Amino acid sequence: MPAETRLFLCLKDNYGVLLHDPDTGATAAIDAPEAAPVEAALKATGWKLTDILVTHHHHDHTGGIEALKKKYNCRVVAPEKEKAKIPAVDKTVREGDDVAVGKLKGKVIETPGHTLGHITYYFPEDHLAFVGDTLFSIGCGRVIEGTPEMMWASLKKLRQLPNETLVYCGHEYTAANIKFALTVDANNPVLEARATQVRQLLAEGEPTIPVTIGDEKLENPFLRADVADLACDIGMAGKQPAEVFAEIRGRKDRF
Ligand SMILES: [Zn+2]
Repeated sequence: MPAETRLFLCLKDNYGVLLHDPDTGATAAIDAPEAAPVEAALKATGWKLTDILVTHHHHDHTGGIEALKKKYNCRVVAPEKEKAKIPAVDKTVREGDDVAVGKLKGKVIETPGHTLGHITYYFPEDHLAFVGDTLFSIGCGRVIEGTPEMMWASLKKLRQLPNETLVYCGHEYTAANIKFALTVDANNPVLEARATQVRQLLAEGEPTIPVTIGDEKLENPFLRADVADLACDIGMAGKQPAEVFAEIRGRKDRF
């Protein structure tokens, strides 16, 4: 049976997600920003927490791990490269490793840049990607520990996933991201339509995610750093895509 998911807000603008395997009852929390909203989601669904899949070490993704581990004795899976910074880790993973949630089959894709050990959990049969703070809808994470080249390479890896892949990211930043995107990619004909759709969703109190890789490829300027028209629009015609990416990221940091 296909995977089921439940999305909910944590802290100020973090997203928590539960991933559930109906065949076995296994349920994973993707990151654990704080325990209470995860527990509320478990109560609402009747699912039992068996795993926590951690994307990176930042506290707004790991703050709830210890309390949840204590209560549910769930398995904590985390990136090998960040194990020293994440509490209660049971299993570490790296590029290409398999991660099962019940019978759901996930793969680890290393996506460094925001942090050096950041990973994405990709479930190809269910067309799901849990990207943490690497890719946001119409945006991407700040390059805090890595380099722009590293982040661009990570985003290209995610861009290669099949178009129908549903992306779950770590934050609700879409409205602010679109506002910025229109300053660098104003001639992109699909951005305005997305802006209207996002305004409507938020007005109704609905999340703006998940989004598909196919849509993000067309709408997200951080995935379009190698599109000649965009480079030209920001005065960087002929530059290397990683340089164009660094320029867009720098402008967003100052926005
Ligand atoms: Zn982060």
